Amino acid sequence: METIKVRSHQREEMIEITREVNNLLPETGEGICVLFTQHTTCGLTINENADPDVKHDMLLFLRELIPQYYKGFRHFEHNSDAHIKSSLMGSSVTVPFSNGKLLLGTWQGIYLCEFDGARERKVLMSCSISSKE
Ligand code: ZN
Repeated sequence: METIKVRSHQREEMIEITREVNNLLPETGEGICVLFTQHTTCGLTINENADPDVKHDMLLFLRELIPQYYKGFRHFEHNSDAHIKSSLMGSSVTVPFSNGKLLLGTWQGIYLCEFDGARERKVLMSCSISSKE
């Protein structure tokens, strides 16, 4: 089991961690890599890493959909929006790998989605090898 530390600098931010994950993969064999975050106000997702405007538009739309202050929210921390966005993104992603490389699509990257930063986050990474070539 590996741990990837991620530092966010804004309340809401998508931080790509693809390189960090690739660097920790087993160099030989193929299998699946599970990434999991133990936090309740950030998430993990896979999406486009070519045009940075995609990140911008995703965060903009989530903010429109789920405002931080909403009539009826009761949670005393005033971060119910972050909890909801965290559940929408999910707390894990699973990606196949082969010989030290993630089998992502050309335009795909893995993101930690921060919804209640800035702070330090941890992502657990566990790789299971299913076969060796
Ligand atoms: Zn909370």
